[in-house]
Amino acid sequence: MPENKFSSKTGHTGGVRVLSVANQKGGVGKTTTAINLGTALAAVGEKVLIIDLDPQGNASTGLGIDGSRRETTTYDVIMGDAALADAVQATKVPRLSVAPAGVNLAGAEIELIDEQDRHFCLSRAISRFIQISPDITYIMIDCPPSLSLLTINAMAASDAVIVPLQCEFFALEGLSQILRTIDKVRERINPGLELQGIVLTMYDRRNNLSQQVEDDVRSHMGAKVYQTAIPRNVRISEAPSHGKPALLYDLKCTGSQAYLRLASEVIQRERAA
Ligand code: ADP
Ligand code: MG
Repeated sequence: MPENKFSSKTGHTGGVRVLSVANQKGGVGKTTTAINLGTALAAVGEKVLIIDLDPQGNASTGLGIDGSRRETTTYDVIMGDAALADAVQATKVPRLSVAPAGVNLAGAEIELIDEQDRHFCLSRAISRFIQISPDITYIMIDCPPSLSLLTINAMAASDAVIVPLQCEFFALEGLSQILRTIDKVRERINPGLELQGIVLTMYDRRNNLSQQVEDDVRSHMGAKVYQTAIPRNVRISEAPSHGKPALLYDLKCTGSQAYLRLASEVIQRERAA
């Protein structure tokens, strides 16, 4: 057991930090951020698990776990039919593992509707997992594009939330919606939940709108916005079709380098927390 064991506010024990990557909008860079931030953290020595909580399973595919290799999935874990440890698979990245999702995860919401403890299915599974895997240092949860029961399960199990924000029209409106959800979860379900930070994604320096949205978000949210913005970069969008994180596909590209800088900001904030 590591020396610096602490009890986190979520009630999980051990020196692990659980981070949800969430935004109710699709296509804003959640999965890309979960995969590449997870990889960057593993690259600097952290031991990382990515939990794929989106029925689309893009994080699983992007980490090289195709459908035929997903026997035990996060659906089984959420339904209480399997332990999280049984779903976990190694990836091509040293120190990075993934619990893949299956399409049946989409049905979990309805199947759990009568369960009294339905917000805590994932939290319980993570607590048990940490007891048998005390060397894990980061768990990142890739959320679906909604603020539904799956996302609430992720937030209930997390120490903090990372919100990827695409620099586009109405970005601030979307942001206030997810911030309200984080506040509600903090009030009713998980008092320790924090906003780790907001990361601007698919940023295009030459585009006036990108700059304007950046100025707006930074003036409203101040230091909650990471210094690092993730640039729009074609190498990042190519990587998933090779079943690899961008950092493995092309370490030198601007996108990979940005995710490495983001990882060091995340670690700094986690140490301060
Ligand atoms: P979400 O998980 O929020 O739905 P994704 O991470 O799947 O979003 O990203 C949506 C699409 O945008 C994907 O095709 C992805 O490859 C692409 N993408 C994400 N980030 C970037 C980036 N920085 N540069 C270029 N393409 C990106
Ligand atoms: Mg996604």
